[in-house]
Amino acid sequence: MIELIDIGLNLGHRSFEKDRAAVMERAQAAGVGHMIITGTSAAASEAAAALARDDRARLSSTAGTHPHHAKEFSGATAETIRSLAAREEVVAIGECGLDFNRNFSTPDDQRACLRAQLEIAADVQLPVFLHERDAHEALCELVEPALPRLAGLVVHCFTGGPEQAERYLAMGAYLGITGWVCDERRGQALREAVTMIPGDRLMLETDAPFLTPRDAPKGTPRRNEPAMLPHVLRAVAKLRGQTPEAVAAAATANTRRFFGLA
Ligand SMILES: [Zn+2]
Repeated sequence: MIELIDIGLNLGHRSFEKDRAAVMERAQAAGVGHMIITGTSAAASEAAAALARDDRARLSSTAGTHPHHAKEFSGATAETIRSLAAREEVVAIGECGLDFNRNFSTPDDQRACLRAQLEIAADVQLPVFLHERDAHEALCELVEPALPRLAGLVVHCFTGGPEQAERYLAMGAYLGITGWVCDERRGQALREAVTMIPGDRLMLETDAPFLTPRDAPKGTPRRNEPAMLPHVLRAVAKLRGQTPEAVAAAATANTRRFFGLA
């Protein structure tokens, strides 16, 4: 079986505090050999890097500030992200981006926070791990001028339709697919988009503990975990008319290349 890599999970989330080791064991048993922990704030990014440093074979992390936390972003936050970026376990800047779905921070604060992180990513030449909800157009407008200076970008937890996918792909972005794709109601646009993503631009993620696939077997716990990644893989493969093995091979190769994993 081809090793899978979960490009986005929140392993530092408090819901994993008590049984993180068991969660990682189950992931490994399910064929998920490596996981990239998402950094969502200065403190969470430091915690993610600390977890990754303790288990380099299985873990890497990102360093950044989620748009929800944009209002907390400061010069000190930028310094933390820069110093984390120098560590070998930190493989991307983010998650950063725009989330106009809930606007926990104002759109202006979100834009400033994203610009600052694109600047850092360009300086340190790490790829950007992007988050976008209900802000596709605004995100494209802000990121496109920075493209020539960026090492790469992945739109994590992509939930849009074919048109949005097309624009991101034209920007050179990779697209991270989560269990959102398993939802036949709200995931319809994404299910169409997944059929047209080139095999060399696709990555897989669970976004655990969030986004438990809606069609998960009865009795699946509410809390999502990385062991569910093969479930996402099978859904993506079915939609694309490919074997899970072929999709896994492509996604894992993309992920290793993009994040510079061994
Ligand atoms: Zn996100």
